[in-house]
Formats: sequence, structure tokens, C-alpha cells
Amino acid sequence: MSITCEPDLNPASLTSNLHWQDGFASLGPDFYTRQLPQPLGQPYWVGRCQAVGDLLGLDAFAPEADALLDALSGNSLLPGSQPLASVYSGHQFGVWAGQLGDGRAILLGETSSGWEIQLKGSGLTPYSRMGDGRAVLRSSIREFLCSEAMHALGIPSTRAFCVTGSEDRVLRESIETAAVVTRVAPSFIRFGHFEHFASTGQLPQLRQLADFVIERYYPGCLETSQPYVALLEQVAQRTARLMAKWQAAGFCHGVMNTDNMSILGLTLDYGPFQFLDGYDPDHICNHSDPHGRYAYKRQPGVAYWNLHCLARALLPLIEDQDLALAALAAFQQAFSDELLATYRAKLGFACEQAKDTDLIDQLLQLLAREHTDYPIFWRSLSHFAADGKAGPLSALFVDQNAINTWLVQYQHRLSVEDSSLVSQSMLRTNPKFVLRNHLGEMAIRQARDHDYSGVQTLLGLLENPFDEHLEHDSLAGLPPDWAASIAISCSS
Ligand code: AMP
Ligand code: MG
Repeated sequence: MSITCEPDLNPASLTSNLHWQDGFASLGPDFYTRQLPQPLGQPYWVGRCQAVGDLLGLDAFAPEADALLDALSGNSLLPGSQPLASVYSGHQFGVWAGQLGDGRAILLGETSSGWEIQLKGSGLTPYSRMGDGRAVLRSSIREFLCSEAMHALGIPSTRAFCVTGSEDRVLRESIETAAVVTRVAPSFIRFGHFEHFASTGQLPQLRQLADFVIERYYPGCLETSQPYVALLEQVAQRTARLMAKWQAAGFCHGVMNTDNMSILGLTLDYGPFQFLDGYDPDHICNHSDPHGRYAYKRQPGVAYWNLHCLARALLPLIEDQDLALAALAAFQQAFSDELLATYRAKLGFACEQAKDTDLIDQLLQLLAREHTDYPIFWRSLSHFAADGKAGPLSALFVDQNAINTWLVQYQHRLSVEDSSLVSQSMLRTNPKFVLRNHLGEMAIRQARDHDYSGVQTLLGLLENPFDEHLEHDSLAGLPPDWAASIAISCSS
């Protein structure tokens, strides 16, 4: 199969709303290499998200969508698309890794409404190093579902339009099949892009990149006397708020290398991520991380470390180390403010009381001692706030005395809230459906048998995770025993 630059599409019916604008490509050839995707053999749909289709003006389920299927598998080009792979560098597991780049991702372009469209797993690029440029079905399904789950939870993330699969074989620990995720974001620029131009001494390009990011995504910085300092401060704050949201949601990213850190503060590059089942601050979700550098409890600290890498890269532009350090200091306050606000929302507190931090700390210590199931605890607490029945909630704990003591304090604290609003707001804050590892795994196993209904069903639940969906109650329960044996590594 060869790639066609004049695809057999009917633009009027399918892609008439898709117009491109010059975005990242306008930076010029020092930032990327033009690269066509590599065709994927006889692709088929694995999952489609119409909400993202709506952002792009694409109908994923249209009868003529097969032309789209080809284009989003790398077998033809969307009209007007000029694909490229970008170059970046980064620190991996705390060690400088040098040049990396889009080794298996290709940017199709940026739509006139400001969405970059990227194919992940679309074949070799000049930055593939030892890799094959491909992504396997399991990791592609996980990225697709989690992108949309995060969005629905109100956690900034890259989005995903679809996964297409193929019988093309890919070698990992065993032979698997290839897939491509079409992902979408305002920008896929990473901390590592800045590190690349700083480390190679390409200072005009470093400045060009910073100016581009400021003009496109942080224009408010131009109104300050030190726009590059303001940029660093803004990125530090956004990253801090993202970390607070991850922690409160029980989300573990797993590979927080600087090349996986978005300059827009988005969750980026889903690999061995996991939503906590039992609450364990020491939890390590990545089997390739034996020392737990990226353990759940370390994520905010690692983000701060990564921001120091970004600061070092921006230093030639900022020219004053003290200013850079002062900008980074914004992280701490932004993180603790956002964390407190998010936990208050989870607890149903609309007003603020000084003692709230004590109540939250006591609760988290109790959850950690007991490894209480994190999603079920919060959902049960939301029901408790409505009906005052402690039974289902205290059944989650061994130390009855401890939970009952905490609940008495909590009820006392709730008495200053508007009781008609508390439970409703908690039920819109604490999801019933969370993309636990075993749910993803069940959908993946079904998809391997060419049944994609599990992917689509899970997507529907995760897009509306606060709704009851009573017919799917079984997907909101405790993980089965076999979930403990799921091992997810960097291999993807
Ligand atoms: P990741 O761990 O997925 O964030 O990837 C780290 C780096 O390795 C990036 O430059 C990726 O593009 C590259 N990479 C990961 N997997 C592959 C692959 N199968 N083929 C080529 N490059 C890859
Ligand atoms: Mg990556």
C-alpha cells in the first residue's frame, strides 16, 4: 500500500469543515522534519469519540467515514495536510537523555480553530532511534480512553478522536498488533522542546520557540516587563494546578520525564498510568520504575524538578537565576491552593474554614493506613452526605472507631453548608466511573477478539462519569482479584 497525496476523499461531505492554519510549522525546519506517515495495513475502527469530532468538524460515524479511517491510519493525507515530526530532547528518569523527538508521532497540522491533530504510532521518523515507530493496540486504547476520561473529570489533557487498528504485527515482549491514536491538543510542545534548543546552544531558535509559545498561548506575558520570566511562572502555576488535580483524582502518570511534560500544563503521553484503586501514597504504577521515582506521592515533587529543567533551559533568555527561581516559587502556592480547593469540592465544602486542612489530612492518613478503595470511598461519602447512613461507608474500613470519629467531625463541619447543595455537588465531583486498570484491560481483551463494543461502552461511561448508568453498576465496583496481577510497563 502506498501513500497518496491526492486522496480519494469526498471533501465536501467529510472534511469540508476542516481548514488548516500555519501553526507549529511556521517555526521552520530547525524544529521538525517533514515526514509522511507510514501506511497501516487494512485499518479498522477500534474507538471513536464524536465529542472530539465536533471540535474538529468531523463526523466519525458518517457512512463515508472510511476515507477518514484511511487518513487517520496514515494511508492517505487529509486535504491540505503537510505532516511533520518535531525534534525535542529531555531528562528521562532524572538523567539527561539527549535528543529524542517524535519517534512515532506525526503532526498532521493545526486546524483553523486551533487544534493540532497528531497521529501516534504512525511509523518511523528521523527521531525513532531504536524504535519501530509503532504503537500497540493495548496502549492505544488506554491513551484514547484516558484522554477523554481526564477531560470529563475536568483535568487538563490532550484529547483523542479515535483509535484505528490493524493486523500488522509489532514485536514487544510478545507479538502484538499495531494501532494508531489520533490525538488532538492546542499544542504538543513539551518542556523537552526548550531543553533541546538550550542544550544544543541554538539560542535564536530557543528565543523563537519561547516567543511563539508566548504569542500563541500566553499572550498576557507580553504585558509584563519580563515576558520569559512570566512564561516560566505561568507554566509553573499551570503545572502545579495539574499536579493538584492528579493527586486529588488519584491519578498516577507513571513516566513524568521532561519530554512528557506539556508547556500548556496538559496531561500528555499516556503510558503506564493508573488511577488508584486502594489509596496508597507509595503506589508505583510503572513496572519499569523499580525505585518509584514516579510513585503517586512523588508526582508534585517531580513536576517541580522538571520545572527546574525548564527554567535552566530558559535561563539564556531570562539571564538572571534569581528571577527564574522566583518564578518557580509560584509552584508551591498554586499547588497547595488548588489541592485544598479540589479536596474541599470533593468534601462538598462551598465555604472555607481554617480547620479544613486538618480534616483532609486526617482523612488521607486514614485512607492510607487502610488502603481504602479511593473511588468508592468518595462516591460513598457523596451518598452519605445526602442520607447520613454511615453503614456502606464504614464497611470500607477495618478501624471502625477511626472512620466514625472522622465522620462525626465531618458532619459537624457540613452543618455550616447549604445541605440542599452538598450531596448534589459531591456527586458531580466524585465520579462513579473511573478508568481503573482492570476496566481498560477488559476492553482491551475484547478488542483483541475484534469486539470493540467494550471500548465504546467504556468511553460512554467515562465521558459522563458522574451519571449513574445503573445498567453498568458492575463496572463501578471494587477491582477483581486478578486486577492485582496486571503489570503495566513502559512497553507500548
Ligand atoms: P515515551 O516513553 O513514549 O514518552 O517515549 C520516549 C521517546 O521514545 C520519544 O521520543 C518517543 O517518540 C520514542 N518512542 C517510544 N516508543 C517508540 C517506538 N515504538 N518507536 C519509535 N520511537 C519511540
Ligand atoms: Mg513521550
